[in-house]
Amino acid sequence: MTVQLTLFNSKMEVFKTIKSLQQTLSHKVGKSTLGLVPTMGALHEGHLSIVKRAKEENDLVIVSIFVNPTQFDKKEDFVNYPSTMQADLEALEATGCDFVFVPSAEEVYQGNLSADSFDFGGLDKVMEGKFRLDHFDGVATIVKKLFLITRPNKAYFGEKDYQQLMIIKKMVEMESIPVEIVPVGIFREKDGLAMSSRNIRLTAEQRLAAPEIYQTLLKSKMLFENNDLKKVKNFVKNEFVQNKELALEYFEIADSETLNPASEILPESKYRAFIAVFAGQIRLIDNIALN
Ligand code: AMP
Repeated sequence: MTVQLTLFNSKMEVFKTIKSLQQTLSHKVGKSTLGLVPTMGALHEGHLSIVKRAKEENDLVIVSIFVNPTQFDKKEDFVNYPSTMQADLEALEATGCDFVFVPSAEEVYQGNLSADSFDFGGLDKVMEGKFRLDHFDGVATIVKKLFLITRPNKAYFGEKDYQQLMIIKKMVEMESIPVEIVPVGIFREKDGLAMSSRNIRLTAEQRLAAPEIYQTLLKSKMLFENNDLKKVKNFVKNEFVQNKELALEYFEIADSETLNPASEILPESKYRAFIAVFAGQIRLIDNIALN
C-alpha cells in the first residue's frame, strides 16, 4: 500500500509494507545508487542534514521512520518516544527525499517481536551496552532487516550515536552485507547541545541546563591534553554533583576503534570521551574526539 501525502506536487513516495516498497525499488532503482538513512522519526535539522548529504552522494534516497521496540530497555522510553509524522514527511519532501518507509512493528517483525543475538566482540559490553541491556542486539536486528529489505549502496549513521555506528560497521562485516557505512559528524544547536529527538521533551529549565553536557566534554578535552585519566574523570563527576537539572549516568574515555575504556593513554591510539546524562526521565548522550 502506498500512503498518499497531503503535499502538492509531491514526488516522494511513502510505503507501509515491505512488498509495496520492494516492488517500487525493484523498478525505480535499477542501475541508480540508493542511500539509506534509518531514523526513529521526530526529525530535526541533524537528521535532515544527513538526508541532504545522502542525496548528494546517491541518485536516490530512502529514509526509514520506525521506532524499534526491541532496542528499548525501558518501556516508558519507548511509549513516550516523540512522534511528529506529518511534519517529518513534509520536511523530508522539502529535502528531496525519494522514498520513505514507515512500517508497523508487525510488518517488520512478522509476529516474532524479538532481537537476534550478535557477538560484537565486546563493542556492546561498555557504555550504552552496559547501561541499556540488549540495546545493541535490538539495533543490529532492525538495521540488518532494513538493509536486507532496501539493499542500499550506502547507509548513513550519526557519530552522535558513535557506539551504534561502530556496532553497525561490525555487524555488516560479520554478516557480509554489501553496503558502505558512512559516518556523519554530530549536529548541534547554537548553544552546543547535540540535536536529538528527545530534546523536545525537555522542560524549559532542563533545556537551559542541557548545554552543560557539551561544555563539560569540551573542558574534558582540554584537560585530557595535560592530565591523567583519573583527574579528567573526577572533574566531570564534580561538574554534575551540584546540578539540579542534570544527573550524570556515566562518563568514559575509550579507544575510538575498540571502544575499550582506556586505562592508560598510548600515544599512537585515538580516544573519545562519551557521556550519558539524565534530565529528569530523559536520557541524553554525547561524545567528542579527544586527540
Ligand atoms: P534516531 O532517529 O535518533 O535513531 O537517529 C537516526 C540517525 O540520525 C542515527 O544514525 C543518529 O546517529 C543520527 N543522528 C541523530 N541525531 C544526530 C545529531 N545530532 N548529529 C548527527 N547525527 C545524528
